[in-house]
Amino acid sequence: MGYDSGNFQRVKDAYTAKRKQAEQVAEERKMQVHALSPAIAEIDRRLSGTGLLLFRIASQGGEDLPKKIEEARKENQALLEEKHALLAALGLPADYTEIHYECTLCSDTGYLPSTKMCECMKRALSVEGFRASGLGSLVERQSFDNFSLDRFEEEERPLMKHNLDFLRKYANTFRTGAKSLILIGGTGLGKTHLSTSLARVVIERGYSVIYDTAHNIVFDFNYDQFKSKPEEELRSEKYLDCDLLLLDDLGTEVQTKHTASYLYNLINTRMNRGKTTVVSTNLTPNEVLERYGDRLSSRLFGEYEILLFRGKDIRLKNNI
Ligand SMILES: [Zn+2]
Repeated sequence: MGYDSGNFQRVKDAYTAKRKQAEQVAEERKMQVHALSPAIAEIDRRLSGTGLLLFRIASQGGEDLPKKIEEARKENQALLEEKHALLAALGLPADYTEIHYECTLCSDTGYLPSTKMCECMKRALSVEGFRASGLGSLVERQSFDNFSLDRFEEEERPLMKHNLDFLRKYANTFRTGAKSLILIGGTGLGKTHLSTSLARVVIERGYSVIYDTAHNIVFDFNYDQFKSKPEEELRSEKYLDCDLLLLDDLGTEVQTKHTASYLYNLINTRMNRGKTTVVSTNLTPNEVLERYGDRLSSRLFGEYEILLFRGKDIRLKNNI
């Protein structure tokens, strides 16, 4: 699986920047130390010639090559020890002028010598994915693992367990073009918690995910429709292109004569592009039909997989 190219580029740029920063800090420290101690400056000058010296020795070849290399190595070691002693005399640590990368495994390149991606870069990509998804801090608090079935009445638990298991599996096997879902049921039944958990897993697996409420999404479509500056970037474009769009709380957006057509355009375009959408709503299928008309409701109920959330409003019980 490849990483979302926008997020990937941002993370790569950040890595280049922090590597340069680390190198610049080391260079500045070197200059500072050289100004204090000409002896260290001389040692550094000689140390920087070591590579070239070894190259010369190696290209001359000959029987005594290993001996010569060993001598050069010893001399190098002696110079380093002398430098460390001089630094210590200045009250500075031995590695003061070395480059201090944030990650010692990949030296902030994001890749290991084996060309495998470093764990630090995978984490950075997830964090960038969370940031770009619009999930904010929700994603840090809500996961499949802390979705508690105990909060539900006993008769509701089998259905909730089914939904939890279904969405967990769906998240772990998500791929581009996976079937779209509609989550239906009253407020406080864990739809948002499970959608957030789903988003989190899919982001961690490297897909681009956008999570937002119907209210905000419709607002952005409306903004684009009536924007005053034609050169301004389209706000709604991001909703059309991500691998997974989570459209939360369908029905809570401001209703205007354009709302239904924005939503139909969104749902339809994503379907045509082979992109997956997960809609959650408190509306009943009849209410969806009444509010948005036949075209949108036949898309949602005809082509999406339906997941039902029923039961009493647990928000009242648990104050969440
Ligand atoms: Zn690393």
